[in-house]
Amino acid sequence: TQTAPTSRAAADVTFEGVVKEFGATRVLHGVDLAVRPGELVCLLGPSGCGKTTALRVLAGLEQATAGAVRIGGQDVSRVPTHRRDVGMVFQAYSLFPHLSVRANTMFGLRRRGVERREAARRADDALGLVGLDHLAERYPHQLSGGQQQRVALARALVTAPRVLLLDEPLSALDAKVRTGLRDEIRRLQLRLGITTVFVTHDQEEALAVSDRIAVMDAGRIEQVGAPEELYLRPASPAVAAFVGHSSVLPADVVGGRAHVLGAVAPVLGERADGPAEAFVRPENVRLLDATDTAGVAGTVEESMFLGSVRRTLVRTADGHLVRVQHRAGERLAFGESVRVALDDVPLAVR
Ligand code: ATP
Repeated sequence: TQTAPTSRAAADVTFEGVVKEFGATRVLHGVDLAVRPGELVCLLGPSGCGKTTALRVLAGLEQATAGAVRIGGQDVSRVPTHRRDVGMVFQAYSLFPHLSVRANTMFGLRRRGVERREAARRADDALGLVGLDHLAERYPHQLSGGQQQRVALARALVTAPRVLLLDEPLSALDAKVRTGLRDEIRRLQLRLGITTVFVTHDQEEALAVSDRIAVMDAGRIEQVGAPEELYLRPASPAVAAFVGHSSVLPADVVGGRAHVLGAVAPVLGERADGPAEAFVRPENVRLLDATDTAGVAGTVEESMFLGSVRRTLVRTADGHLVRVQHRAGERLAFGESVRVALDDVPLAVR
């Protein structure tokens, strides 16, 4: 029964050759990215790759050294933050401790000159969207971490911005709260149809919430694609290494095919013949009996029960570690002899 903040036509967002330098250090090396109207795109990558900087350039909290950012087609590179019409949520709870939940939520509206009663009404609507309208009178210290982030979300949405920017909004929360709020953010985003850029270093989070993911590495975008696409067809070793839990194994490439784990698999992309390293996903390796003739021999180093599946680390006879995912009921003893065999799947190779 809650009404969404006044809805607007969704805007697209583009980065065009965005370069950012801090002094002599180049942090963004020409970022190009087009986010479609109403889309949720995650910027995913290891710590220090420039995700936050890219988001801050989009928000207007940092000025690009070169290149441009556009919102709804308009070049906003010289537009101050408060006029870019973006809502932001950060990792650390950024609520004002001395203001009530309602006062925190209406803050942006009051600053824009919205009359107090109207601002309070809209704040309560926004709090309704995140399921917190009943806590409007409370103060931040009386809320859990998850509730504080919901207030931060309500505060970001209350002005009906054209774009929502989320910078690791869940990383300070414990696991259960994190996945709950993650799914809620996604449902809300879909319902409002708001164009959203979501920064995270957590691949599971990115895979779960995104329409598309932009994988960043060392100040560049390595690949942009739907979660399935990135997972199944990583365009570069950096993407293969970052998405999934691959083992990196020595391989020999001959005629565009990789010889690895006693099998021959097709190679993703172009790769010259010669020694290489292949990225092998745990779910693409089968565990066989020691008496089997397929695959290669090894011994169990470690076996982890993960609830729905079990993940086992096998050391091959030539000393390499292979991660295998298999049925949870299949128990293995430390030091047990097994064989591991690769399924016939295309592999990323470097
Ligand atoms: P994290 O997840 O750890 O925040 P990130 O991918 O978001 O990583 P950024 O915060 O964008 O990365 O930082 C990218 C690089 O830019 C880092 O090496 C960081 O030290 C550097 N950097 C960021 N802000 C500044 C600044 N104001 N002055 C100098 N260097 C900076």
